[in-house]
Amino acid sequence: MAEEISCPYCESVFESKDDLSKHIDRIHGDSGVLEGSKSS
Ligand SMILES: [Zn+2]
Repeated sequence: MAEEISCPYCESVFESKDDLSKHIDRIHGDSGVLEGSKSS
């Protein structure tokens, strides 16, 4: 059985914690950036 793991920041679903970790790292950053993009 494949375990589905939902991203706590968006509605993406992954099959493994590793995929989720990579997603959060790449998409949401390490500070839990939820809102849009900051112009930096
Ligand atoms: Zn996400």
